[in-house]
Amino acid sequence: MDQANILIIGGGVVGCAIAHAVSQRWQDVFLVEQFPKLGMATSTRNSGVNHSGIYYPKNSLKARLCVEGNRLLYEFCARHKVPYRHCGKLVVAADAHEEEQLVALKKRGEDNGVEGLFLIDAAEIRKREPHIKGHSAMVVPSTGIVSAEELVHAFGRIAMEQGANIVTHAKVTSLAPSGKTIRVDLRIGDEEDSQTESIESRCVINAAGLYSDEVAAMLGNNSWKIYPVRGEYCEVRGPRASLINNLVYPLPHADGLSLGVHFTKTLWGTFLLGPTATYVDRKDNYEKDRLPIAAFAESARHLLPEILESDLNLAYSGLRPKLVPPTGHGIADFVITRDPKVPQAIQLVGIESPGLTAAPAIAKYVAGLAAEILN
Ligand SMILES: Cc1cc2nc3c(=O)[nH]c(=O)nc-3n(C[C@H](O)[C@H](O)[C@H](O)COP(=O)(O)OP(=O)(O)OC[C@H]3O[C@@H](n4cnc5c(N)ncnc54)[C@H](O)[C@@H]3O)c2cc1C
Repeated sequence: MDQANILIIGGGVVGCAIAHAVSQRWQDVFLVEQFPKLGMATSTRNSGVNHSGIYYPKNSLKARLCVEGNRLLYEFCARHKVPYRHCGKLVVAADAHEEEQLVALKKRGEDNGVEGLFLIDAAEIRKREPHIKGHSAMVVPSTGIVSAEELVHAFGRIAMEQGANIVTHAKVTSLAPSGKTIRVDLRIGDEEDSQTESIESRCVINAAGLYSDEVAAMLGNNSWKIYPVRGEYCEVRGPRASLINNLVYPLPHADGLSLGVHFTKTLWGTFLLGPTATYVDRKDNYEKDRLPIAAFAESARHLLPEILESDLNLAYSGLRPKLVPPTGHGIADFVITRDPKVPQAIQLVGIESPGLTAAPAIAKYVAGLAAEILN
């Protein structure tokens, strides 16, 4: 049986960022991913936005790790040639009532340490985004976009260069703590043509995204349940993509479900409209009962009156790993903790947005928890 210091379950952006961070300090690091390639789940089915940290309650992990992650992400992308654009964004208030909410959002952002926020009027909105209709807006200079796919692969590639073992097509099927280690049973390969293997690890890190509740349950911890909330996108291509210059957001949903359907100018010159937010029944339900294009056009007209149904093409969707049930309300924080009953295990649960942004800061934080276990 292979022996590991650290075994990370999940090859999304969070698992790969952790592998990158911990392989700088320890040898015998393994990352196992059930799919044939890294980053095939939530990490490449998102808006690719490097968020500023304005939305989250003060001192929450989301606020702290987003603000820190925003800076670390730009540094990492610049150093390792991951495509990105540091373009800023507008959060637009449609009327005077929404402007009050905008002022409160600005205060929250400042409390979280987000720098450079300022308000502009309708004339200034038109200078920056000539096709957007709004009463006023907040400029968020630290927001930008990154290539999520290239980011995941850069974290993974550098982790391997530092000596980490990354094994794809490797699904964790059970976890058995014994003494100071945990035995990790794996199914390697396709269901029809697979073999089983085990690795004994001194520290196991659960970064399994949508399945993190099920992985936690393998260690006997049933504290969490993940509810998948689908976010769907449409894309505007060709000359009509010039209706949007950068990133434009409405005020976030009051119920905390999402940031609201927004416009994201992509690195490839199109713009995305989305993501919507709908609780779905399964963790692999990306396509069943997709919203019609007309519904996207209608919600977009509020900020972009010129948009036509014929401008829109149905694009991909992603699933948010929510901790708040459909009947619930509010924002749940990231859970990042050593397991109270199995202290050699670190649980990461409910890593929804801003998880892409926060990934390098989450990785630093988790490396600190791993040091408590290994040193
Ligand atoms: C619609 C949408 C838009 C978003 N927009 C943004 C944004 O603009 N900016 C931002 O910062 N964040 C955004 N997010 C959030 C961000 O995408 C996630 O927080 C982040 O990708 C989570 O990464 P992860 O590595 O935890 O999860 P994942 O990418 O889901 O990775 C987990 C991995 O674990 C693997 N796995 C699971 N179980 C097992 C097992 N038993 N054995 C082996 N492997 C296993 C899975 O196959 C998967 O690859 C968005 C999310 C959604 C859904």
